Amino acid sequence: MPEQPEKWSRGAAWSLTHAHDAGQVAGIRCARCNITRYYKPLELREVIGNVTIEEVRDKVRCQQCKSREWMSAQLFHPTGEQAHTIRFRRLVQIRWEKRVIWRDE
Ligand SMILES: [Zn+2]
Repeated sequence: MPEQPEKWSRGAAWSLTHAHDAGQVAGIRCARCNITRYYKPLELREVIGNVTIEEVRDKVRCQQCKSREWMSAQLFHPTGEQAHTIRFRRLVQIRWEKRVIWRDE
């Protein structure tokens, strides 16, 4: 489990909003490709919703190998040094594509 502040009431799910408020960073790793990418919890929330990090892990897949099984995700507090060196993967845009569905009568 991630490090959680004292005020957090146990039993309540530790959501991405909590993680943001606590200053945490999300690291999502593909063990097969050995790639870890770092995200801001609020941006993950934009994409996936205000879920727990376990649910994030269940929903993401590796962009490179398309795997789901090899993914792991965790929240952590960056150290002072990390805070300056982490390169985040930033959300640029959520694009809703128009899809046309036909039905023959
Ligand atoms: Zn991969």
